[in-house]
Amino acid sequence: MSDNLLIFIMSEQPTQCPICLTRTDLVADFAHTNFKGKIEECLNWECKYLFIEQEDLD
Ligand SMILES: [Zn+2]
Repeated sequence: MSDNLLIFIMSEQPTQCPICLTRTDLVADFAHTNFKGKIEECLNWECKYLFIEQEDLD
């Protein structure tokens, strides 16, 4: 897995790809760890963008 995934703060559900706005699929959920993020993959097979989603926590 790439070490340089970009992190996006998400407040809207469902999560959309930041590149093409397609729905994304949850690859790995670290929401219950100190990392507090999820790895999401774009469902658009021409895009397949992989990114980290973090919820907008106060
Ligand atoms: Zn995409």
